[in-house]
Amino acid sequence: MEKYDEWNKRKRQHLEEFHGEHRQRSAIEDPSCEICFKLREQDKINEIREFWKWYSKLLPAETYNKNTLRGLGNILIGSKEKLLEWSSQKDNEIAFQRITRNLDVIIESVSYSERLRYEIRKLREWILKIILMRKELFEIKEGEE
Ligand SMILES: [Zn+2]
Repeated sequence: MEKYDEWNKRKRQHLEEFHGEHRQRSAIEDPSCEICFKLREQDKINEIREFWKWYSKLLPAETYNKNTLRGLGNILIGSKEKLLEWSSQKDNEIAFQRITRNLDVIIESVSYSERLRYEIRKLREWILKIILMRKELFEIKEGEE
């Protein structure tokens, strides 16, 4: 099944089972749920706004949530060198897996209005590129202060 269909099905099921009239204890989780993972004022929203500008230009992305911020934050912690190395890392490398996992957290925490035309592997590469650009911006800002 296409990822998009899979995510949509999960979203619908989650809304019905968890936020519906009769909450089921075994309800399926949805990492893109805006109710369960609502962003609050104290969250570092500026960090994600910059990222979202790029992301929503690149993809038919509609909403993000706390999970998106968490995935992004976890990646931003990593050194730039580690991030640059990512595409050449072996599958069993811990840093590679950590970055990949967080990229997937970002991808799946977003709601999309239509099918994604790219493979997940390609998406991960792009997202990491966006993040590296963002990281550059951070560094310039830090140097100016
Ligand atoms: Zn929910």
